Amino acid sequence: MRQHLRTCTLCEAMCGLVITTEGDRVTEIRGDADDPLSKGHICPKAVALQDIHTDPDRIRHPMKRVGDRWERIGWKEAIDLAVEGIQRVQRAHGNDAIAAYVGNPTVHSLGAMLFVGDFLRALRTKNRFSATSVDQLPAHVAAMFMFGHALLIPIPDIDRTDHLLILGANPAVSNGSLMTAPGAAERIKAIRARGGRVVVVDPRRTETAALADAHHAIRPGSDALLLLALLQVIFAESLARPGRLTAFTDGLDTLRELALRFPPERVAAATGLSADAMRSMARDFAAAPRAAAYGRVGVSMQEFGGLATWLISALNLVCGRVDAEGGVMFPTPAVDIRRADQKRDGRPRFARWTSRVRGLPEFAGELPVAALSEEIESPGPGQVRGFVTHGGNPVLSTPDGGRLDRALAGLEFYVAIDFYLNETTRHAHLILPPSSPLEREHYDLIFHGLAVRDTAKYSPPVFDKADDARHEWEIMNAITTRLSTGWRARLRGALRDLGGPSWMLDYALRRGPYGAGLRPRGPGLSLRALKEAPHGVDLGALKPSFPAALRTKDRRIHAAPAIFVADIARLEATWLGAAAPASDALLLIGRRTLRSSNSWMHNVERLVRGKDRCTLLMHPHDATARGLHDGAAVRVTGGVGTITVPLELSSDMMPGVVSLPHGWGHGRPGTALRVAAAHRGVSINDVTDARRVDALTGNAAFSGEPVRVTAIGAR
Ligand code: SF4
Repeated sequence: MRQHLRTCTLCEAMCGLVITTEGDRVTEIRGDADDPLSKGHICPKAVALQDIHTDPDRIRHPMKRVGDRWERIGWKEAIDLAVEGIQRVQRAHGNDAIAAYVGNPTVHSLGAMLFVGDFLRALRTKNRFSATSVDQLPAHVAAMFMFGHALLIPIPDIDRTDHLLILGANPAVSNGSLMTAPGAAERIKAIRARGGRVVVVDPRRTETAALADAHHAIRPGSDALLLLALLQVIFAESLARPGRLTAFTDGLDTLRELALRFPPERVAAATGLSADAMRSMARDFAAAPRAAAYGRVGVSMQEFGGLATWLISALNLVCGRVDAEGGVMFPTPAVDIRRADQKRDGRPRFARWTSRVRGLPEFAGELPVAALSEEIESPGPGQVRGFVTHGGNPVLSTPDGGRLDRALAGLEFYVAIDFYLNETTRHAHLILPPSSPLEREHYDLIFHGLAVRDTAKYSPPVFDKADDARHEWEIMNAITTRLSTGWRARLRGALRDLGGPSWMLDYALRRGPYGAGLRPRGPGLSLRALKEAPHGVDLGALKPSFPAALRTKDRRIHAAPAIFVADIARLEATWLGAAAPASDALLLIGRRTLRSSNSWMHNVERLVRGKDRCTLLMHPHDATARGLHDGAAVRVTGGVGTITVPLELSSDMMPGVVSLPHGWGHGRPGTALRVAAAHRGVSINDVTDARRVDALTGNAAFSGEPVRVTAIGAR
C-alpha cells in the first residue's frame, strides 16, 4: 500500500489529495489536511480521478477511422497521419484552413500548458479557438486593458474581507472560479462568523445565496446597469475613496461622469431591483472596512460581459478595494507566466484581426468560438476544412452546438488529442489518446496565479504510464517538431523531448519570485525543493503588489479604457431604449451542480447516479401561468432549436427566468461513453444562439437567451 500526495486536477480549486494505492489500484482518495491551500477540503468529484483512470471507455491506443469503424494503429503511423493530414489541408487551401480548439483540460495539465503554445504556433493558423470565449474572456479583456495583462485578474481576498459582494457566481458549489478557493462555503461562512456580510446578486437563489446575508434576484444580462447604479450612488454621495490607488490610476473622472448618468431609479425596472436595494448595496459596500466585489460566469457569459466585468473592477477601484488586504488582490505565484501583454506600441493583444465571416475580435491570438461553425460552413478563401482539438467537447459546450455538430461532419480532416469518443471527437478521422491524469506529473501553472493564498505544490505521477502510452506534451511535441521548418526548431523539439516538462518547470520555479536561482542547491524554490515538501509550500497571504506588478506600458491603472466607455451606448440602447427586452420573456440561464463541471464527468457512474440533474428549473408562478406541472416533460424553444426536458419547480428561481445545467446531451451515434449514454440529458447548447455574443469581447452570451417553454403537445 502506498500513499501519494497530489493536487486534484478536475477543477480550479486545486484541492490537495491523499491517494492510496495497492499495486495498480486506487483504494482511497481523501483530502490532505496538511495541504496549505485546501486544508483537507475535497468534493465528491475527486473520486472521478480514479474512475477516469480505470474507465473502460478511455481510449488507450491511437486509432484511425476506416469507413464507419475505428482501427488501432501504432504511434509512428498516428503521428505521420496527423502531420500529413494537416499539411494536406494547408497545401490545398492555405494555413487558415486548419482550425484548432483547445479545451478546458489543457489548463489542468502541466505538460499540455508547457507545450500547447508551440503546438498552436506550428499550425500557423489564425483560426485558433478555445473554451476561453465561452467562459471568462471578458475577465481577461478587462484585466488586459485595466492592469496590462490578461492574467492580472483581481482575486477576492476572501479570508480577510469583511464584505463580499458576489454577482453571478456560485462558489459554494464551484469552490471558486477565477478565485481558487477550496472549501469556499466554509470561507464564506467565516466572513459572517467574524461579523462580516455576504451579498449575492443572482437570478437564482443559489447554494451560495443560501449562505449569504442578502440575496437580490436580478434580470439576466443587466448586471452592468446595476454596477453603474452602485457607482452612481458612491460618487453622488461622495463615498468614493480610491486612496493610495489615486497616485497611479487614470480615468477616475471619466468613470464618475459616466456613472452619474445612471441613478438607481433609471435602471430599477430593467434590473428588477428596487432603487432602495441598490442604494443600500452601494452604501454597505463603501462603508465596510474591507470589501471585495466578485463576479463570475453569470456576469461574463452574457451580452454585456465585458462591461459588467470591467465595472466590477471599477467599483473595487473607486472604493480603494484593489490591491488592498480584504479587497481584491493579485497573487504572486511561484511560476509567474505573466509577461508583458502590451505590444511595444502600447496596444493590448486584442482585436488585431477579426474572424473572417462575422468580424469578431481576436484576443491573445484566438478568435471567439461562437464563430467556429460559420468559419467551417461559409465558402471562400480561408474557409476551415480541417480541425485539430486538444480536450474539450465544443459540440456540447459552445452555442448552437447542433450547427457545429453538423459542420464537423463535413471536414476533410480532423485529428483529436483526446481519450474519449465524445459528441465532438466522434467526427474525428484520427484519435491520439494521451495518458491518464494519474500518470502525469503536475504543477498548476494557471490556478496558483488565481488563488486566494500564495502556495506552490508539485505532484509526481501516481502511476507509471504504460510503455506504449504518450503524454499530451509528447504528442504535441512530436507534431510540432514535424511541422516546424528549419534546423533550429527541430533541435529545440528534440531537446524538449529529452527534458520534458520537469526541467522547464524547474527553470521557471528557479527564476520566479521565490526562486532558488540557477545555483543547484540555493535557498528558495526549485523542483527539488517542492519534491521535498510534498504537501505543498505555503508562501503566505496575498500581498499588495501595485504599482510594481502592473503590466500596462505606463505602469498605471486605466480605470476607464475607451473600448468599455464606448460600449455604454450599446448597453443603454439595449436595456433602456425603445427596443428594451420585453419583460414577459422567459430568460434561460445555466447552472452548475456539485457533481458535474464538464461533460466528461458524466461518464463516471458515481457522479451521475441518483436523481436526474438535467432538469429545467422554473418558478411555480411561471409554471402555473403556462399550465405546467412539476416533473412533466416540457419543450424549451430558443433561438436555434427545441429540446425536451423534465421540469422542476423551484421558488429559488426568479420569476421570468429558467435554468438548465450544461454539458449534457449524450448518447449520440458514434460516441463511446456508456455511462453518459445511459444518463443522456439534453444539451442547453441545442437552443442557445451563436449569434448572441458580447459584441465587445466576442464571448458567447449564454445567459439570458430568450426561450419559450411549453407543454409537450402544445403549439
Ligand atoms: S473541488 Fe475541484 S479540485 Fe477540489 S476535489 Fe472537487 S473537483 Fe477536485
